[in-house]
Amino acid sequence: MPVMSTDDFSIHTDGCERYGDGMPISDLPDEVDSLEDLDCQCWDGFDSLEEAT
Ligand SMILES: [Zn+2]
Repeated sequence: MPVMSTDDFSIHTDGCERYGDGMPISDLPDEVDSLEDLDCQCWDGFDSLEEAT
């Protein structure tokens, strides 16, 4: 399940160490259309957004 950082609202995988104090989210925000919209390198291991969520 993706996790949203409560500091800067960036979105990470639940295995990422960069979100600090994060909040699990069941759905990605509407503005996220592809993996390119997710800045953190924790998403690099995924081939598609469907696979990542
Ligand atoms: Zn991350």
